[in-house]
Amino acid sequence: MMIGHKLDTSKTDGMLKNRVKQFFKSENSLLIEHQDLPDYRKDTKQYIFGPVFRPTVEDHKYCLKSWFFKHHEILNIWTHFIPAIFFLYKTLTYILEILTSVNPTLESCLLPLFTISAFGCMALSTIYHTFNCHNENMYNCVLCLDYAGIPLLTTGSIIPFLYYAFHCVTTEFYGFNIPYIFIIYALSMSGYGVFLMIFTQTETFTNPKWRRVRAGAFFLFGFSVMLPLFHISRMYSFDYLVENLKVVHLCLSGLLYTSGMVIYCLRFPEKHFPRVFDIWFHSHNWFHLFVAAAAWNYLETIVKIKDLTLVCLEA
Ligand SMILES: [Zn+2]
Repeated sequence: MMIGHKLDTSKTDGMLKNRVKQFFKSENSLLIEHQDLPDYRKDTKQYIFGPVFRPTVEDHKYCLKSWFFKHHEILNIWTHFIPAIFFLYKTLTYILEILTSVNPTLESCLLPLFTISAFGCMALSTIYHTFNCHNENMYNCVLCLDYAGIPLLTTGSIIPFLYYAFHCVTTEFYGFNIPYIFIIYALSMSGYGVFLMIFTQTETFTNPKWRRVRAGAFFLFGFSVMLPLFHISRMYSFDYLVENLKVVHLCLSGLLYTSGMVIYCLRFPEKHFPRVFDIWFHSHNWFHLFVAAAAWNYLETIVKIKDLTLVCLEA
């Protein structure tokens, strides 16, 4: 009885292995070269020429199945899906802490604000890289979502830092102590962020002709954080900036984001090693990894700042 059962299992295992092998073989044989992609999916500066691109298949199931076979986008999907799960877990943990807290405050919402924006950005990116081979309408739709993730993450990152930098600067308003500088900066930054999120949904924005304007708008948004940084550098001593506001750690996140962008723009390493990095570790993969590392470092930094800036010093 037992022997018969064992034989059946090994037979089933063998069949399963064959089916998996067949699946990978058949899906890989369908992959096409960059030149065979429809124009809207072509990248003007593409240095990947092997048959590693998914064909356009108007089937959601095919797009989802592509998480499990080798192609140009596979690592783009996983390098943002795994961090998305991490940030979702963190968000749920923080929300649970707020719900079970005796005295929840505005400050308790800052960490989940960042983690949910990081989750949103990575999840939207995962959706884009999964479904950009569906059809043209779907491509345009998921591309807009991917772009909207950038201002979402930037806004969610800036606001917690601004709070810790300016929460001690208050003015009395109808009996309440209002951190007015924080409010002014937070409203301006989130206003710009929301504008960018809406602007990214327009056809003009996704047009390849506006690539530089697009990059400029995002860069300007990221760079606008320098204005409050300059402001606080005038308010506090250098030691306070380094010790309490962890400016060096924040700069590390900035450096990681910038390095990711530079690698992406230089198309390194695939430009210098043709066909070597067609599937694994091409520039877009590195860009994702750097963004994920920057976001993780930023979260660690904000957690440190949170504990160090609770007491307001005399400025
Ligand atoms: Zn991407």
